Amino acid sequence: MDFEDTPQEASFRREAREWIASHVPLKSETRERVRSETDPEEEKVRAQAWQAKKADAGYAFIHWPKAYGGRDSVMEAVIFAQEEGAFATPDDFFANSSFLGPTIMKYGSEEIKDRYILKMLRGEEIWAQMFSEPSAGSDLAGIRTRAEQEGDDWVINGQKVWTSLAQHSDMGVVVTRHDRTVPKHMGLTYFLVDMRTPGIEVVPIKQISGASHFNEVFLTDVRIPDSMRLGAVGDGWSVALTTLMNERFSTSRSHRPDVEEFLELARNLEIDGRPAIENSGIREQIADLYVCAQGIRNIQSRTLTALSKGQAPGPEASIAKYVNANKFQRTSSLGMDLQEMAGIITDSDEVGDSIIFQSGFMQSPGIRIAGGTDEILLNIIAERVLGLPQDIRVDKKVAFNELPTGGA
Ligand SMILES: Cc1cc2nc3c(=O)[nH]c(=O)nc-3n(C[C@H](O)[C@H](O)[C@H](O)COP(=O)(O)OP(=O)(O)OC[C@H]3O[C@@H](n4cnc5c(N)ncnc54)[C@H](O)[C@@H]3O)c2cc1C
Repeated sequence: MDFEDTPQEASFRREAREWIASHVPLKSETRERVRSETDPEEEKVRAQAWQAKKADAGYAFIHWPKAYGGRDSVMEAVIFAQEEGAFATPDDFFANSSFLGPTIMKYGSEEIKDRYILKMLRGEEIWAQMFSEPSAGSDLAGIRTRAEQEGDDWVINGQKVWTSLAQHSDMGVVVTRHDRTVPKHMGLTYFLVDMRTPGIEVVPIKQISGASHFNEVFLTDVRIPDSMRLGAVGDGWSVALTTLMNERFSTSRSHRPDVEEFLELARNLEIDGRPAIENSGIREQIADLYVCAQGIRNIQSRTLTALSKGQAPGPEASIAKYVNANKFQRTSSLGMDLQEMAGIITDSDEVGDSIIFQSGFMQSPGIRIAGGTDEILLNIIAERVLGLPQDIRVDKKVAFNELPTGGA
């Protein structure tokens, strides 16, 4: 396992940092803001401008093939994201595009690629991923949204949920079920859809933070031309897996507050008239968080070493995601406790930069769910890292409409 960059990686890291620094201030030089305090429309304009700037400089979607404007390097994409993390860049409206692009490259017709890929790279269109439904999340193959073919069109009826950014999206991908008489992983079909198509209703979900990051999406008699289908009829599962494989690279980023921010808080606040950092209970928590952070760094170094050698990261990336998300929630919660009565204030004018603890506390439960829940990750670790017996899968060979959950 390598802990250091190779000379080429170090040189790319320097180049990336200098370029970012010439366009955006450091987070440490700006006031902390939380999502509920920013106007999403203004943030979207800033995000689109930043994405276009990156595309012009060759730093947008670095993991994409060179032919589509990327640099064909997952390693450089990770390095760029690590460096970007220190700067006050706009919210990310393009995570979906970054992993939907490769799906379109693999399955889209030349016409579809010409129409969408460049606009994705430059952030000119925002994309939504409509996979999850009220009864299909961890078990994604349980999708019930129906697709029925009528001439050259498909008519879609159903409901999606937790669809990030749907209210801002121009385009989306939707996985549907066209055949209920075959087992659940079969009978699925994947489409691209213009989010302004009649019959699509987007209802934002109000979150604990006051912001609305995700939505319910209702699809009523939505007509999608067959030319917008990705992959063969019934091959939607393979297409969806391509999307999920690419999504894996975007779910292992680091989160703030981390140990450093908690240390800073403990230096500045007092317990019983003494700096909190001198309190033995707090010192124990700091030591614990530090050990945890170090473990995550080591596992991430292993993943990066694999990427650097052109290999795919192994299932141990699930350990990093599981521990990281839980540490995020714990650090946020400890920081709020340390602020005592002020811990519940969610206005950055009142609490200043320590707002990241309140913000992290509200965001972290979602991080433990998105991109694989804790339990699903533990299953992966049990089965693929520790080699324990597989989870029981009783519905694998049963036709969807014969499932006891009422798949019909
Ligand atoms: C911030 C955020 C953004 C999201 N964005 C999108 C998006 O843009 N598009 C989209 O399609 N979806 C999105 N999602 C949805 C996300 O993919 C699902 O929430 C996730 O897959 C879990 O599915 P679920 O919510 O239906 O929970 P379920 O799968 O119903 O799980 C409920 C509980 O049961 C547990 N469980 C389920 N199966 C097992 C098992 N086999 N063994 C043990 N325990 C199990 C789970 O761990 C969980 O605790 C987003 C979610 C979040 C939090």
